[in-house]
Amino acid sequence: MPGQSCILPYSGHDKGSEDTFWGQIPMALALVPWESGHARQISAIDSLPASPLAIGSGLASPAGGSPRAREAALDALAQQCHACRSCSLALGRQRVVLSRGNPQARLMLIGEAPGAQEDELGQPFVGRSGQLLDQLLAAAGLDSHQDAYIANAVKCRPPGNRKPTTLELAACRPWLQQQIALVQPQVLVLVGATALQAVLGLKGPISQLRGQWQSLGGRACMPIFHPAYLLRNGSIEPGRPRDLTRADLVAVREHLLASR
Ligand code: SF4
Repeated sequence: MPGQSCILPYSGHDKGSEDTFWGQIPMALALVPWESGHARQISAIDSLPASPLAIGSGLASPAGGSPRAREAALDALAQQCHACRSCSLALGRQRVVLSRGNPQARLMLIGEAPGAQEDELGQPFVGRSGQLLDQLLAAAGLDSHQDAYIANAVKCRPPGNRKPTTLELAACRPWLQQQIALVQPQVLVLVGATALQAVLGLKGPISQLRGQWQSLGGRACMPIFHPAYLLRNGSIEPGRPRDLTRADLVAVREHLLASR
């Protein structure tokens, strides 16, 4: 119902291609970038059970491990990520931008990379694009603070807000993998073409791919337009990008409701 937030158990309904880009993400094998270019395991992640059992409370994620254990693991992840220098984007950043929202949420949104305000404040989607994203979520009955965990494919701001390179996306991927492994969202919303490419390896016009359910290791994924694009295309007429994005987010909410 519009105006009411929801986070509900996920039944596993997917359509679209089965992902082979990342495959399943075993927490015990989760890797973090290492400044030398190697990788190592995180003990906090290793300590978490991988069983995808529902916890049962309204907003709780179905991931194994207590919410406190998962938040502790996310804190440990954040500490290590803040020291990351695995790609050249470390040179120009003010802050590493890891996440905002609820780490217990069943919905995770993944964008492209931090912009100037995100770099300054250390949180993703806090500029004009983020405000519009929050409004679109609210219009679909989803609260961006309670119902969603929000991150980017790349954690440091590319100079001049350019698109991250393939190498930068690859260097930063282990951080995102670990966020997904720890939060265990039931639905991923991929915000824009770069996120779609980074997470699913799918390239193509977002205008054609948006609104079509995809799958990442059995987890439902919904590509949507990036709000920066919607800021440039402000029409709210039926069938226009803003209206289509609203419809996509309503579909996400209904997907969560249907799997209660
Ligand atoms: S963009 Fe990612 S991989 Fe590159 S320095 Fe920042 S956190 Fe590390």
